[in-house]
Amino acid sequence: MSLRIVVTVKYVPDATGDRHFADDLTVDRDDVDGLLSELDEYAVEQALQISENSDDDVEVTVLTVGPEDAKDALRKALSMGADKAIHVEDDDLHGTDAIGTSLVLAKAIEKAGYDLVVSGMASTDGTMGVVPALLAERLGVPQVTLLSEVSVEDGTVKGRRDGDAASEQLEASLPAVVSVTDQSGEARYPSFKGIMAAKKKPVESWDLSDLDLEAGQVGLEGSYTTVDSAAERPARTAGTIVKDEGEGGKQLAEFLASQKFI
Ligand SMILES: Cc1cc2nc3c(=O)[nH]c(=O)nc-3n(C[C@H](O)[C@H](O)[C@H](O)COP(=O)(O)OP(=O)(O)OC[C@H]3O[C@@H](n4cnc5c(N)ncnc54)[C@H](O)[C@@H]3O)c2cc1C
Repeated sequence: MSLRIVVTVKYVPDATGDRHFADDLTVDRDDVDGLLSELDEYAVEQALQISENSDDDVEVTVLTVGPEDAKDALRKALSMGADKAIHVEDDDLHGTDAIGTSLVLAKAIEKAGYDLVVSGMASTDGTMGVVPALLAERLGVPQVTLLSEVSVEDGTVKGRRDGDAASEQLEASLPAVVSVTDQSGEARYPSFKGIMAAKKKPVESWDLSDLDLEAGQVGLEGSYTTVDSAAERPARTAGTIVKDEGEGGKQLAEFLASQKFI
């Protein structure tokens, strides 16, 4: 038997960089370095572990929708151990919202062929955490989201979702979509051998026409959501310093009470 896993990985602006909005209120992606979303490293790791623990013939494909530089995210995932990569890139994608992104990803996943889709719990830039559910709906398959443990056995994906009050054991028959949390296990670092091997792994590039999509279905025009305004956060102030001259505890409690922390 064979198992085809597609891992959705997003190329995000580096959160430590100086990030800005462009004039059309989209994220200015040209002015800042990007990288593979840290939360998607967990998704790649879990897909690789499913592959390593399986007796079946498993193929792990990493998929991104993003600009030219998004290839960097694919290379990182390939150097971790994924087998091949798909990059969906098209100028008309500029301004696509989560619903449009899920449409493009779903079309690409269908074209690639899949038994299991593994996503991160959220991207580190948009952080909406909605794409995996949107994908399951579009693909018409079960979703098992926010797993901190995941495995595949006999055509079934199983996992554990940890909540505040309880841990649930969940399962779904394949094909299915899962998302994994940052509690699912440390993501591996690419080895030197992995980095060298990644250079030779196949990366396919598709545009909208390869996916039978038209410009009006994506981009700002095809988006269901609009950003009306955006303002930079004010710089942080110096804060309040409480000096203990005998009354420090009282002053601290009064300050916390005034901020409604206690
Ligand atoms: C070039 C480009 C321009 C964009 N412009 C805008 C814009 O102007 N306004 C706007 O609202 N949105 C825009 N988007 C889309 C936006 O950045 C998000 O991808 C989208 O809204 C999904 O929201 P999220 O990142 O919060 O996803 P979440 O739901 O938080 O992501 C969950 C998981 O879904 C997967 N995923 C999400 N996005 C991608 C992706 N692109 N490729 C592969 N896997 C993915 C990952 O596994 C991720 O961990 C743009 C995207 C691209 C690629």
